[in-house]
Amino acid sequence: MAVLEEPIKGVPLVKNYINGEWVESKGEIKDVVNPAKYETIGKVPISTREEIDTAVKAAQEAFPDWRRTTPVARARCLFRLKELMEEHFEDISRIQTQEHGKTIDESRGETRRGIENVEVSCGAPTMMLGYNLEDIASGIDEYLIRQPLGVFGIIGPFNFPWMIPLWSAPYAVATGNCVVVKPSSEVPFSHLKAAELVEEAGFPPGVWNVVNGGRTVVNGMLEHPDIKGIAFVGSTPTARDVIYKRCGETGKRVIGQGGATNFMVIMPDANIRATVASMMTSFFGNAGQRCLSGQTLIVVGDDDEFYKTLRDALIDSTSKIVIGYGLDESVQMGPLRDKPKKDRVLSYIESGIEEGAKVILDGRKNFKIFGDYPDTCFLGPTIFEDVRRDMKIVREEIFGPTMGIMRVRTLDEAIEICNESPFANGDAIFTSSGKSAREFQYQVVSGNVGINIGIVAPMAFFPFSGMKDSFFGILHTQGQEAVRFFTESKVVIQRWF
Ligand code: NAD
Repeated sequence: MAVLEEPIKGVPLVKNYINGEWVESKGEIKDVVNPAKYETIGKVPISTREEIDTAVKAAQEAFPDWRRTTPVARARCLFRLKELMEEHFEDISRIQTQEHGKTIDESRGETRRGIENVEVSCGAPTMMLGYNLEDIASGIDEYLIRQPLGVFGIIGPFNFPWMIPLWSAPYAVATGNCVVVKPSSEVPFSHLKAAELVEEAGFPPGVWNVVNGGRTVVNGMLEHPDIKGIAFVGSTPTARDVIYKRCGETGKRVIGQGGATNFMVIMPDANIRATVASMMTSFFGNAGQRCLSGQTLIVVGDDDEFYKTLRDALIDSTSKIVIGYGLDESVQMGPLRDKPKKDRVLSYIESGIEEGAKVILDGRKNFKIFGDYPDTCFLGPTIFEDVRRDMKIVREEIFGPTMGIMRVRTLDEAIEICNESPFANGDAIFTSSGKSAREFQYQVVSGNVGINIGIVAPMAFFPFSGMKDSFFGILHTQGQEAVRFFTESKVVIQRWF
């Protein structure tokens, strides 16, 4: 099939969007590389401390008027934004594929999930409702109201450049706050597009700002007294040791969503065909670069026949995955985001072999690229068996297209292995037994649990949970919890004369 038209043309320089203006940064400039073609498609600035300060100042100045804008009028801006996002749906999706490498179908799914958060945030006038009780004492009423806090920093990772800032930013502005968004500098074009649509939707200047860059921008947010809180999604070391720690020191609110090593448990009564289909997207979708990707598959029971059928079906389906440039609609898996990320996955494959796991499908060799693209960032899917719970490929986050298979005798043993992981983001069970499913759901320590579903991504009206080293904070992104994160409650007691 032909490659779809690329929306990013030439080699444009990304500008910051501050106070309703497009501003060229004075910071150092970095290349943005399309990982499939391994060519530079744009330039992104690493913005300076002064630039983040200017954006926070603009947001702080916009806050009093935006706060006084009625919740319904604020929601109307979000309705317009949603409509514009629908109009630009295909362009938004192609930008993600061009800058990130994921397939166009994966990008379309991401676009949809981002828009759904804008849709849900349109309900902020209802979600912000307080409550009251009359006559807490004779002639005295008490009520609770929710109020915005001011300016929030929103920081995103590289793997979902469009969707993840939208887990937070729409709720922040819907509830009357102003935001400064810092997308990952590896993939700045998706949120650049979001900012263009924000401008077109008619948000007042300063309400929704975008500052591109890296640590200087993040540190500027963490140290700025006018930033009331940070909603962060990225790796665990950054979430825990930088964001959570420093927000604690400076008294800022914090959401810190971190990394993962997710387990898929297969019971001997599972439907093999449906399970294998689900495993393909769970382990190899987004080239394994998903915080909800499966990493280890635990097959329960000593039924060798069942195991052999499952193993052969997994190898067969995985070998057929079409690898190439995601803007070709027949492609099913794109490259890793960049060369260092591929090298990291390769080093985990080496470590798996050194620790005694057996490679039954070698992604380093057994793959062809569909189309004429350099193999710099491409890597085929790898499957290991004889994996043990103490191996690095089980305990550490790989973030690539690998599957490690281990066998255990009982469901309890499988749950014990899931629960000894320091991470707890998304685990799933495949079974036709209600009892096993109930037991798994009951016992497993994990923020998101799947039952016969391999990617347990919560819808926008549910929180994006996570436990242990996968999450730092109390409230989560998305839905009602995001509304609570971005508002504080005030209790008023009134005596009527
Ligand atoms: P990352 O932690 O390297 O970067 C995330 C953001 O933090 C980027 O904007 C980056 O510029 C900034 N940053 C990185 N190091 C920093 C530092 N030392 N000081 C200040 N800022 C810093 O993460 P990534 O590689 O972009 O994203 C992949 C990770 O995100 C994976 O671990 C994945 O599991 C995780 N993730 C988690 C979720 C979730 O909801 N739990 C969702 C998506 C991705």
